[in-house]
Amino acid sequence: MSAVLNGVYINGTWRAGHDVLEVINPATEASLAHVSVGDGNAVSDAVDAASVAFVDWSKSTGHERAALLRKVAQGVGAQREQLMQLQSRNNGKPLFEAGIDVDDVIATFDYYAGLAEQLDADQDRAVALPSDDFSARLRREPCGVVGLIVPWNFPMVTTAWKLAPALAAGCCVVLKPSEVTPLAELQLARIIADAGFPAGVFNLVCGTGLAVGAPLAADRRVAKISFTGSNAVGVQVMQRAAETIKGVSLELGGKSSLLVLADADLDLAVELACGGGFFNAGQMCSATSRVLVADSLADDFLQRLQARAEGIRVADPFAEDVEMGALINRTQYQRVLGHIQRGIEAGARLLCGGERPADLAKGYFIRPTVFTDVPLDSALWNEEIFGPVLCVRRFATEDEAIALANDSDFGLVASVVSTNTASAERVANGLQAGMVWINAPQVIFPQTAWGGYKQSSIGRELGPWGLAAFQELKHVIRAN
Ligand code: NAD
Repeated sequence: MSAVLNGVYINGTWRAGHDVLEVINPATEASLAHVSVGDGNAVSDAVDAASVAFVDWSKSTGHERAALLRKVAQGVGAQREQLMQLQSRNNGKPLFEAGIDVDDVIATFDYYAGLAEQLDADQDRAVALPSDDFSARLRREPCGVVGLIVPWNFPMVTTAWKLAPALAAGCCVVLKPSEVTPLAELQLARIIADAGFPAGVFNLVCGTGLAVGAPLAADRRVAKISFTGSNAVGVQVMQRAAETIKGVSLELGGKSSLLVLADADLDLAVELACGGGFFNAGQMCSATSRVLVADSLADDFLQRLQARAEGIRVADPFAEDVEMGALINRTQYQRVLGHIQRGIEAGARLLCGGERPADLAKGYFIRPTVFTDVPLDSALWNEEIFGPVLCVRRFATEDEAIALANDSDFGLVASVVSTNTASAERVANGLQAGMVWINAPQVIFPQTAWGGYKQSSIGRELGPWGLAAFQELKHVIRAN
């Protein structure tokens, strides 16, 4: 067995936990590491430490917090290559995708350092009142000890989107990474540990959802849970949080659409369809797994999409020219193949893919998969697949396309492809989604909000909204 890494960091000290979990490389199925993970007792100790640290940390200035956040950004930058390698090894994603992840982490910590600095100037801002008898000021205060629970598909990134604003706001944190992908996050935690935060401000408890996530969501001393993951677990987190009326932010699943309007540039449409469906092997909450194509273009589009999808190089994340890597683990691999099988049984037509690549004997690889004629009432059309599977349908009018895209329990993102700006903007305005890209890949900036409509989210991450999620508002009104 490989050396066991400590997966618990509490009050400035690394510790062993109560159990050991094995971490697998999904591209080779080989063991990568063993991590000693925590349980409810570790969670309780972490919340103790965070509660004590909160007394002083909550009184620190935004500038003091910003200096530490910038150190984290610099530390991540200095270890960019190593973090990329860890991310690719543990997650199965190509190295170039891991580079995008690491750069996003740096940008997020830098961005929230800037917002933390602005907080000082905004604190105690006078509020105009309709009476001279009173004066009022507004304070934005950290909401307390917060629990951050994240999934495996963009480890470090989903973490940064919660951790940077929570620390910027002045909250103390207990972070629970996914038990499947703790390695890059452990390295990120070491960088944070080296940055010089006071003991207890940042705590980490690796472990399973039931052993660590559930007690964290239930702890009455935790003021807020910020969770990213599946809807099924989101419901459980909300139920536990309800018992102590804690705040919850939820980033959950999606079933998003890419709309190819009648005047679209077809080459661009095909590239964006592949990006929206196959980036991260399709394991994206924001996957545009429904592709809606104008009737007049559909035959041409499908021909080109099939050729492009069949040409995508699926390989080990470190292979030269790799375009798509492995799925995260056996469970997810089997789940996606099950969805594909049930889609075929439901009458959808498999255009390409649907199986593992013949040249890869090991690893959880599935070829880029495209279905057409997908029945509207099928699971393939309605459920989140979380794998490299696109479902294409035709539409006759813009209104029909918008209605098809909006006919979902989810509403995370959408993409529109059109050479006519006015049509694209009009369609974008009609879509029930928290983010719409026009003729653009899925670029995400720390300045723009992340989250969606309906069952995709509660609240928004990133931007000033991500910071506000970790703040309480306090008005102080004084008689003059
Ligand atoms: P998951 O819900 O199984 O697990 C997410 C996290 O919750 C993990 O850390 C897990 O250990 C923990 N957990 C599990 N059971 C728990 C419980 N009972 N109480 C508290 N915590 C618990 O999700 P996953 O399989 O890791 O990730 C895939 C899902 O995440 C997909 O549904 C995807 O759409 C969603 N996701 C959403 C976004 C977004 O921004 N909306 C981003 C990434 C992933």
